[in-house]
Amino acid sequence: MACDYIELANKGVQGLQPYQPGKPVEELERELGITDIVKLASNENPLGPSPQALAAIQAVLPELTRYPDGNGFRLKAALADKLGVEAAQITLGNGSNDVLEMIARSYLTAHSASVYSQHAFAVYPIVTQAIGAQHIAVPAKDWGHDLDAMAEAITDKTRVVFVANPNNPTGTWLTESEVRTFLNKVPPRVIVVLDEAYTEYVDKTDFPDGIALLKDYPNLVVTRTFSKAYGLAGLRIGYSVSNPEVADILNRIRQPFNANLAAQEAAIAALSDEDYLKRSVAVNAEGMAYLEGEFNRLGLGFIPSVGNFISVDVGQPAGPVDGALLREGVIVRSVAPYQMPDHLRVSIGTMDENRRFIEALEKVLGALSGEQS
Ligand SMILES: *Cc1c(COP(=O)(O)O)cnc(C)c1O
Repeated sequence: MACDYIELANKGVQGLQPYQPGKPVEELERELGITDIVKLASNENPLGPSPQALAAIQAVLPELTRYPDGNGFRLKAALADKLGVEAAQITLGNGSNDVLEMIARSYLTAHSASVYSQHAFAVYPIVTQAIGAQHIAVPAKDWGHDLDAMAEAITDKTRVVFVANPNNPTGTWLTESEVRTFLNKVPPRVIVVLDEAYTEYVDKTDFPDGIALLKDYPNLVVTRTFSKAYGLAGLRIGYSVSNPEVADILNRIRQPFNANLAAQEAAIAALSDEDYLKRSVAVNAEGMAYLEGEFNRLGLGFIPSVGNFISVDVGQPAGPVDGALLREGVIVRSVAPYQMPDHLRVSIGTMDENRRFIEALEKVLGALSGEQS
């Protein structure tokens, strides 16, 4: 080749590693020649989509020849109604990751910086480095965000701070007073992104509602998604709520039809399916309690989580454990790229799936300790 196409790419992109998703079920089925695979790797809702969302998708199929409503009028109206905000504050995305990227592209340049925490969600460095901006990863405290240190890391160059509440993959969370104390220290010219992808699962009285904080902090952008508790990860639909000026800016760089037709319809239906949401949260709580109990029984440490996943310390480098679980037909997530080499992140599944995972884990850990002795 005449050119080095890696070298030609912008420097920030050259420094990135591709995002590692959980192994697709079909891929492992092909490799192992088995079919009863359990995937607990991507924090998806184990119940399948809401029946109302499915019906809405069915109903819209004949319309797929049309472009969607680029402004998402009806979905924004439904969200505005539900959240008590103006439609002009809402930005729809092809997943909330799309909105995170829009924020980075709108507010970061090669001469500015973003701040986020060690062990924080992988998309923050990706969207930052894609722009060639500097990224400051602030060391975590007890696996969670150290908001005091993050506030201190803000310099004249900082334009965006990403805060995940709760965080993925640690499941750690911040209280309302912690978030407010932090926001009070951040200069108004710095956009604070509060990523609330798992907010529906959290059952803590002092857990903040980012939407309620918006009136006090015009620099705040709250992102949420239909991928997790609403069970629509495959459709790709998420959103942010911000002050209308920030929404206006995001709207200028948004791809014209970034929220697809089926996704908009399904999201509107899912929003009103309160029974499904309740069941999702209940199944998650039951599964979380079960896994915590089993980890205790097995003598394994874990990071207490308020999300729909939990990171367990397998007491040894997690790579071989992950590989052995795959051979048992159980897909979980290695979090080595998050500087957590001894942990595996497991999404909460149905009780059958959770039991399959624990049986496989117990077998695999027993076999690995047998090899060592
Ligand atoms: C899963 C997740 C999201 C959601 O991504 P989508 O693009 O909406 O599917 C956002 N933030 C965090 C921290 C997540 O774990």
